[in-house]
Amino acid sequence: MQRCTIPGLGIVLTLCLLGVIAGSAGAADKLQVVATISDLKALTEAVGGDLVEVEVLARGNQNPHDLEVRPSLMVKLRRADALVINGLELDDWANVAVQGANNPRIIPGGIGLIDASRGILVLEVPTTKVDRSMGDVHPAGNPHYTLDPGMTPIITQNLVDGLARVAPEHRAAFERNRREFLARLEAAMARWVQALGPFRGAKVVVYHEDWVYFFTRFGLRQAGTIEERPGIPATPTHLAQLIRQMKEEQVKAVVVEPWSDRDLSALVAQEAGAKLALLNAKLGTVSGPDAYLATTEANVSALTQALR
Ligand SMILES: [Zn+2]
Repeated sequence: MQRCTIPGLGIVLTLCLLGVIAGSAGAADKLQVVATISDLKALTEAVGGDLVEVEVLARGNQNPHDLEVRPSLMVKLRRADALVINGLELDDWANVAVQGANNPRIIPGGIGLIDASRGILVLEVPTTKVDRSMGDVHPAGNPHYTLDPGMTPIITQNLVDGLARVAPEHRAAFERNRREFLARLEAAMARWVQALGPFRGAKVVVYHEDWVYFFTRFGLRQAGTIEERPGIPATPTHLAQLIRQMKEEQVKAVVVEPWSDRDLSALVAQEAGAKLALLNAKLGTVSGPDAYLATTEANVSALTQALR
């Protein structure tokens, strides 16, 4: 009897212990963070580790400029301890959801509102006043800095500072996670610089001006855009001129994202004798602390193949 009881007791104890462990690291005890876009979700997970649970408002295949604010977004925001935004007017749509969420922690000036763009040197700031009513979606300069892995030291510092405002007791853990992430990033960065090195100075056409920070980092040049201007669709005249220019300048690659017009991009690439590179195809499909690195790795690889 005794031999039966002891293993039985062992199982009960084990279950109890598991219960205690699960309870201490359970979802209820984690910081509930909402990020507006997938890149920022991935970087918040890298910094927050198992101390945070991060939800995203715009999924990887959705245009981060233009999101319909559904009631389900407000539910996510209502119970959030922190909200990570891209800023630079990319995710202004989140303001509507924040207003509806009635959560003082994440309103402007709230302790849990984290603007990841703080300290970023913004590119393509218009020198004349750009009127958003005319459709241009980059009135505050180019907002797509998260696609450049070289910006992540600044972004993750903003995340550490923001998360530590909400949970000061975890600052050391956030800083340790950040250091570990940046060490892995540094190793990957050396690989990416080497992979794109042979294409330094190469001209690339993009559907939308998402890649200016990335191109600047790796020495590539944006030769033109399929959109007439950010957020404004192409006219036939613009496309004809672009294709002519691409042939003259021997542009080898056209870059498109999952939410842009891939058929039109493929057509332009074909007409101009260039290859199509679908970037960000993995955005939001990889999870875990290395999601950002995996997505960037896939972007570098797709671009390298198109430029070859
Ligand atoms: Zn944009």
